[in-house]
Amino acid sequence: MGQDGANEPNGLIPVASYARTSEDVRQKDGHGVRHQLRINERTAREHGCRVVQVYTDNSCSASRPRAARPGFDRLVEDLMTGRSADGQAISGVVCVADDRLYRRAEDLTRFFGALTSRPGRIYVDPQGRRDPYSQEGLLEAVRSLEAAVAETQVRSRRLVNWHWARAVEGVPHSGPRPFGWQEDRITLHPAEAPLVEKAVSDRVGGKPVRAIALEWRDLGVTGTRGGRPNPQTVTQIMTAPRVCGYRANKGALLLVPETGEPVLGRWDPIVTPDRWAAVCATFSAGNLYMHRGSGAPRLTGQRAAPRRLASGILRCGATRHDGTTCHGALCAQKGRSKRSPYVYSCRDCGRCSISGPLADEALERLLFSQAPRSKQPTGVVRDRWFAGELDLAEKRRVVSDVLAGCVVRPGVKGLHAWDHSRVQPVWR
Ligand SMILES: [Zn+2]
Repeated sequence: MGQDGANEPNGLIPVASYARTSEDVRQKDGHGVRHQLRINERTAREHGCRVVQVYTDNSCSASRPRAARPGFDRLVEDLMTGRSADGQAISGVVCVADDRLYRRAEDLTRFFGALTSRPGRIYVDPQGRRDPYSQEGLLEAVRSLEAAVAETQVRSRRLVNWHWARAVEGVPHSGPRPFGWQEDRITLHPAEAPLVEKAVSDRVGGKPVRAIALEWRDLGVTGTRGGRPNPQTVTQIMTAPRVCGYRANKGALLLVPETGEPVLGRWDPIVTPDRWAAVCATFSAGNLYMHRGSGAPRLTGQRAAPRRLASGILRCGATRHDGTTCHGALCAQKGRSKRSPYVYSCRDCGRCSISGPLADEALERLLFSQAPRSKQPTGVVRDRWFAGELDLAEKRRVVSDVLAGCVVRPGVKGLHAWDHSRVQPVWR
């Protein structure tokens, strides 16, 4: 094998072949990828090259940030080292079009940086060979990027319009089944709908929402994945506009443009609009479904992805009246101070709450200095963690490898010093 940029003994230039299909084309069987690879083979032959290694990403988006593209990542790595995993020298890349490789500026930068990290490299596509070191070569790449970005914008605008059009028609939301309706999202659920109706009635009559939640618990009401009712979820259920047949989109009631009247959904309502307005009036604005949005917890139990490090890991250590420990999950919510922009609080008993940054810091300490040596994350993981290279999901995996959970002791009122020892580990 020659050095970088050198030809093979047969005079052919060894190149890497890259192919990608996006998730929106229905070619998840790899047909699209195989087709592109065949074109790459032909392109390579026509331009005095030989494919020595193949890199593919099947049904991967190149427009969304952080979308995983393992094939592309490997290609970039191999271009940096100059060799494929099995030791073949790589002197260029062949692809059917630039937008297979990059649709975002960051990826263009990564790809070009890697491609030109060594001298003598080429880029080949059906239009011909391109010199990636020349200004013209780079300009052409940027032009392709601009076209791809414009196309992505048009496509995502189309998607937004589609959601909006569906909303105006009053078609039920996709996503998890709302509590009170059957799977078709149109027909009322025989057990749940009467519960919601009664809850609205009770609440308008002055019943505390906590009492309603307790009643539902006593009746054994759970979400489809076992979520237990609490005051927040019950409030969300009662104040969602869908309860009276109104359609909302992004926190605002959807109005018919011509009349200004609310758009009526095609589903069966549980109460009249007047009743719904009446129940909403019993809550402060900040607690309403319309304020908190559909991302707030629902009883279907399908939760949004956790957005905080310790979400679901912390358990409530408060003592209940009967002497047992609460053990409710501490959930992240907005905090009120600069020092604690978010807090973890128990939704079950409401008697245990801890500053978000304090709990996260305590978790880090447990993980990297207090865990038994054999359980601590490896040096590589530690370095990546503190270099900020791990995303939230990865960090949470690291945590759950070491900790089965943590029990949080309730804080002492008026004591503002940070006490890391409130977070007690349960090692795996
Ligand atoms: Zn609790």
